[in-house]
Amino acid sequence: MRSNAQRLQFYLRVNIRDLNAFDEQLHNAFATNPTEYIKVFESAIQTIYRVDYYDENNLEMEPCPKFQLQIHSDENPVMIRDLQSNLVGKLICVPGIITSTSKSNIRARKCVYTCTNCGHEKVVELNFGLARAIAPAICEQQRMPGIGNEKANCPMNSY
Ligand SMILES: [Zn+2]
Repeated sequence: MRSNAQRLQFYLRVNIRDLNAFDEQLHNAFATNPTEYIKVFESAIQTIYRVDYYDENNLEMEPCPKFQLQIHSDENPVMIRDLQSNLVGKLICVPGIITSTSKSNIRARKCVYTCTNCGHEKVVELNFGLARAIAPAICEQQRMPGIGNEKANCPMNSY
């Protein structure tokens, strides 16, 4: 991790077999719900880096970077024709040959909407996959009156 960081490559490669050998239950939980576990792992990697390698007193250092978790595996791959709907959102290995590459598309993981009328901020976390960010039609401040202030009167689609 440290040598990666010195080369400004902020990632940590994890062999899924090592994870399985360390804790089989954790491995199974990771494979069934990678969306949540990747966030937890990346946050753990950053914490380890901050505690073990990062020097907060050194003003010449860049702010503590965010790390990417890269999983690699030599498990038996699932054939493309065997992909079923029960595998959606799971961590699987599929065989393939890369025939072309393109620039990766950046997708938001978190959207913050601000109401143009009352300034209420609504945070929406997005899952992986094809989920699109859709702004809520009705201001939530308006839906939850009585938090001290009077009911805001926001129009439709005010975010
Ligand atoms: Zn509002």
